[in-house]
Amino acid sequence: MESFRMFCDGSHRIASLADFLGDRLQESLSEAVYKKAAIDTVDEMKCNITAFNGNRSKLEFHLMKSLAEKEEFQSLITYINQPKAAFEIFIKECVDQYYMDKSRSIYKALKINLDQFTKLIHSAIKKSSSITIGRHGDVSSWLDTFCSELSAHLTLSHSDFKGVKYQNIKDIDFLKEAMTKALETVEENLKCDFSTCDVSNIKARPYEILYEQLAGCWETCPLCKAVCTNTVPGHKEDHSVKFHRSQGISGWRFSKTEYLVTGVCSSYVASDKCFKLNDKDRYPYREYRTAGPPYSKWSITPDLSSLNYWKWVVCRFQSDFEKHYKKKFAFINLTLKLTILIDINMKKQ
Ligand SMILES: [Zn+2]
Ligand SMILES: [Zn+2]
Repeated sequence: MESFRMFCDGSHRIASLADFLGDRLQESLSEAVYKKAAIDTVDEMKCNITAFNGNRSKLEFHLMKSLAEKEEFQSLITYINQPKAAFEIFIKECVDQYYMDKSRSIYKALKINLDQFTKLIHSAIKKSSSITIGRHGDVSSWLDTFCSELSAHLTLSHSDFKGVKYQNIKDIDFLKEAMTKALETVEENLKCDFSTCDVSNIKARPYEILYEQLAGCWETCPLCKAVCTNTVPGHKEDHSVKFHRSQGISGWRFSKTEYLVTGVCSSYVASDKCFKLNDKDRYPYREYRTAGPPYSKWSITPDLSSLNYWKWVVCRFQSDFEKHYKKKFAFINLTLKLTILIDINMKKQ
């Protein structure tokens, strides 16, 4: 009678232990499956989405293209004044679009990953059991082996199991059986979760991974707000960008007037023109570095060419910019305006 009670107590304790371990496993397993799916999806997206398969300059080109297609001033001004936010929005939009197109394959990927991880756990249960039995060990040594077997794949800390570690359970065969059953339940639960899962569960991570991988230096030209194209955040060399913009786009106006500057800073640095800070300190563009930081930290090389994109932006959104900065654009060449607008319209047809 006494031994039967002991057996019941023991098996009951093992079953509770298996349930407890099952719950911990479900959390770690779900986390690992989503994490792996996110990494796999990022790799897939980098192969399939052109905007993501290069460096940030390539991403910026696609962002500019999408802004030109949208023709929304609000999105454009966000890109000019808060480039980081605009990049985040653009990456999110691409990721959302990708999930909309590929939702089925993402569910499949989650199930495949779940299968792989479950196999690893099954083999860890078997291995821990045979090692522990061979050494006449108890549940504590079983847990040691189990955690170290899975440490490369799951975030499973032995300290999570502290509460059950010292229960002096010796029936390892029964533990093995109970754990196998608990794992089957966990697998069913997760399959069910994945089938009904809203893809937003996984969306945030690929977005975060991509943003981190594609981020670079976020400094902007103090004259036109073009983003530095260096791919290393906090780089030692001067900031630089290939294409600068019309300065009026970032709100620069001619001194003591209400007119926005149409010219591009990279052309001005080759001229005899000057700029003023705080309406008093005057600096020749040729010696823009004398204005101190952030000017001194930029390498703006004289370049008389500029992207047609920014000329088009000024022409297309002239009145929006004027309303936004409560100023007028000076000297917009009407012939240029017509040429660009006609050119763009021809390309659209
Ligand atoms: Zn500039
Ligand atoms: Zn930089």
